[in-house]
Amino acid sequence: MSAHQAYSFFQSVERSFDKAAKFTNWDLGILEQIKACNSVYQMRFPIKKDDGSIEVIEAYRVQHSQHKSPCKGGIRFSDEVNQDEVMALASLMTYKCAIVNVPFGGGKGGIKINPRKYSEYELEKITRRYTAELVKKNFIGPGIDVPAPDYGTGPREMAWIVDTYASLRPGEIDAAGCVTGKPITQGGVRGRTEATGLGVFFGIREVCNMEDVMKKLGLTLGIEGKTIVVQGLGNVGYHSAKFFREAGAKVVGLAEYEGAIYNADGLNEDDVFQHRKKTGSILNFPGATNLAKNTDALELECDILIPAALENVINGDNAQRVKAKIVGEAANGPCTPEADEVFTQKGILCVPDMYLNAGGVTVSYFEWLKNLSHVRYGRMEKRFTENLNGHILGQIEELSGKKVSDKERQFIMHGPEEQDLVHSGLEETMISATREIMAVWNANPAIPDMRTAAYISAINKVATSYAELGIFP
Ligand code: NAD
Repeated sequence: MSAHQAYSFFQSVERSFDKAAKFTNWDLGILEQIKACNSVYQMRFPIKKDDGSIEVIEAYRVQHSQHKSPCKGGIRFSDEVNQDEVMALASLMTYKCAIVNVPFGGGKGGIKINPRKYSEYELEKITRRYTAELVKKNFIGPGIDVPAPDYGTGPREMAWIVDTYASLRPGEIDAAGCVTGKPITQGGVRGRTEATGLGVFFGIREVCNMEDVMKKLGLTLGIEGKTIVVQGLGNVGYHSAKFFREAGAKVVGLAEYEGAIYNADGLNEDDVFQHRKKTGSILNFPGATNLAKNTDALELECDILIPAALENVINGDNAQRVKAKIVGEAANGPCTPEADEVFTQKGILCVPDMYLNAGGVTVSYFEWLKNLSHVRYGRMEKRFTENLNGHILGQIEELSGKKVSDKERQFIMHGPEEQDLVHSGLEETMISATREIMAVWNANPAIPDMRTAAYISAINKVATSYAELGIFP
């Protein structure tokens, strides 16, 4: 989420919240409670570096809301970490989880270090000590608060966390559920890597299947044939481009920080990725035209623009020149409030980050469920489904006297693997969230944009939960 210049990041989240809250009838007290960060844990601890010196590390964990347990949110390793940022990110997690019906409160953690300046052993010591501090204050656990990866952290750090937690809580049967984003061998779930990009695709596809929305934008129904531009060929951008292309869309532009390329006939993201790996640059890709600046990609003629790199890339300066009909915020905070205003004026539909990139947290929820159930998805039903499908198919072939092709047989027989079920759960999640937000928006024409509608949807769900919970005396 972009920080408005005159406001801190947390204050700017509060402002977006207030803008949306005006469209609800909730008691002011309940709204205040939702906005507030319930618990903020600021810690300092020493580590001994490889050269023998001692460094004091500054770190945070914020639990924004416990209207549902556990709290959920990533841990960031970055020089820029500060309390305000962690509070803002924790509150955004509350709203994000509510929108996609993931039954968690929001949380976030941060350690103020540049991970590139530390050895692997030092990073392990920092991560393990941070986890121990969380355990000491009861700030982590499968039923309390469940971290995940964010900037500067990944499966490796999550493996250190679960190992530290499990060793400090011997015998806790659900210990693996204390953190998500783990390697598969440590209790992770298949389908996590592509989850955010796939969620972006499912969300946009649902929007493109809405007749009234497409008519207003002057677009045809469906994804097929749509032209797409993606900024950032990292985890989220790469997978978004892949799923759009596979569904019959044309990825006509791709941008990386060193430049941007265009091909009206469509680009294959993996070929471009391999070209970049080989040559060190996205530029000079065979058959494509180089653009003068990487930001030129944002202003290309296309149906759907997917910023999947950084925050604040579409702002008061360039929003007027955006020609896409739909902007899908795959990154966090790629469009500033000024850009939002321009989009509203120009009739561009901006599909907001808070729900569009919720694929990661949704699949984290599936990982946590897997950990609590102690069984891999698909293990119980895969063979049963295959046997049943085989039987049904056999009966149909016998009765009709005809045989299906081998390809069809394979498709019909197939029992679900873990990845199939994770993708299917994500698809259901993104489709229902899109419909819920659109229903909120359609119910009141005064709501200016989809972002505000998404906030309203979140506020209504969290407020209902508080209202039904009753507030403690
Ligand atoms: P990543 O580091 O894998 O990819 C980002 C890519 O953007 C990199 O390839 C980088 O070179 C490129 N980039 C940097 N500056 C650029 C510029 N000026 N122009 C064009 N490209 C540029 O990161 P990611 O995990 O793909 O995350 C991207 C965004 O999505 C971030 O805003 C992140 O917060 C958000 N997000 C990620 C996830 C997830 O599951 N990974 C979930 C939710 C939101």
